[in-house]
Amino acid sequence: MAPDFDIIILGGGCAGLSLGMRLAKLGRDCPRVAIIEKRAQYVSDRTWSYWASKSAQLKHLARAEWKKVAIKGAGKNLSIDCADVPYQAIDSATFYDAAVAEVSGNDNISFYRGEDIKSLRKKGELWEVELRDGTVSGRQVIDTRPALDSERAVPLMWQSFSGVEVECAENTFDVGVATLMDFINGPEGQVTFLYLLPYSRTRALIEITVFGRDSRNEGDLASILHEWVKKITGSATVKINYREHYAIPMGLPQIEQSKDASYVRAGIEAGGARASTGYVFQRIQRWAAESSERVRRRQPVRGHNADPWVMRKMDQLFLRVLLRNPERGSELFVRLFAMRDPRSVIRFMHDEATLLDYLKIMCALPHSLFLAELVRGLFR
Ligand SMILES: Cc1cc2nc3c(=O)[nH]c(=O)nc-3n(C[C@H](O)[C@H](O)[C@H](O)COP(=O)(O)OP(=O)(O)OC[C@H]3O[C@@H](n4cnc5c(N)ncnc54)[C@H](O)[C@@H]3O)c2cc1C
Repeated sequence: MAPDFDIIILGGGCAGLSLGMRLAKLGRDCPRVAIIEKRAQYVSDRTWSYWASKSAQLKHLARAEWKKVAIKGAGKNLSIDCADVPYQAIDSATFYDAAVAEVSGNDNISFYRGEDIKSLRKKGELWEVELRDGTVSGRQVIDTRPALDSERAVPLMWQSFSGVEVECAENTFDVGVATLMDFINGPEGQVTFLYLLPYSRTRALIEITVFGRDSRNEGDLASILHEWVKKITGSATVKINYREHYAIPMGLPQIEQSKDASYVRAGIEAGGARASTGYVFQRIQRWAAESSERVRRRQPVRGHNADPWVMRKMDQLFLRVLLRNPERGSELFVRLFAMRDPRSVIRFMHDEATLLDYLKIMCALPHSLFLAELVRGLFR
């Protein structure tokens, strides 16, 4: 029997829509695609920040960019000039609007919204997805839905964050610099810092981020966030535009894709997140671009590429050192950014580090902590 679709994308969030957008750009060469998404409507629910390197995608959607970032901690106050790789932020609503417009403009793509996928099964060569009013079939399924709790692997560490976008009645923020990390006291045994993206002199995203073995819920971070919002905004009248909270799993084991190449998992929990930084957005864009290129060449879509061995080892080592020595977290990050050429660490963060960058990073960090962890690794 002929399938309804060549490709069915389960989940129309960042990964699903990014792939949909890329496929839509193939024009008449776009295969028959279905995107099936639970949400009926998209609202602004997150802000994606990333280093806008030459190869970064969708930079035109950015709501703001910063050519200077600040790192504060361990008695240092660093201002890093990053004009050649600025730090940018995209409001998710802008991305959703652009993606929906793009996929809706290609007749080969059917977009099912407000559909909570009931079941997925393979019948012969075809996948069948059960929806509210019947089933749709396809040759290949790209599953970007979050894994079930029971299937979820244990990450080495969690990056939990809670933030608010505030609007102040008076000028409050310096738009010239984004504060990437301002280390503060947080929950016991966790590396905690403040993150501040000033969109204008009156509007900013203020966030508390915690690196730790366990994830933190919104309530855990509420009082510390409230305290810092008050400290930063002082006597200004403050309106809260929106809130965000999330916990990114860091250092997840490499996922095993199904042996059946017609079922592929993708997205944040399927190799989309960089182990040591939690950056996801640009990795998803790269995967979407590579996938659409494969489709153009009539090859099946694959999951996220495995990170190079050196990168995986460095990431794991860094996370393990951080886990064992949370009290030295601020010192470790400050040392990295205090390197003579901080572009090495910036390249490391956005997956473009060279071997020389890795060497420089290793030299910048306290050797004893890392050697001890390396030795422990030999016995693990
Ligand atoms: C508040 C917040 C801030 C973030 N900030 C950054 C950042 O600054 N930089 C960065 O790189 N990353 C950031 N991330 C991490 C990451 O980029 C996002 O989580 C990203 O959205 C992950 O994309 P995804 O497609 O894997 O998951 P999602 O975008 O969550 O998409 C999964 C989709 O599947 C749908 N779905 C689930 N179940 C079903 C079902 N049964 N039927 C149909 N549809 C279903 C969901 O509705 C959702 O749309 C942030 C995440 C959050 C939550």
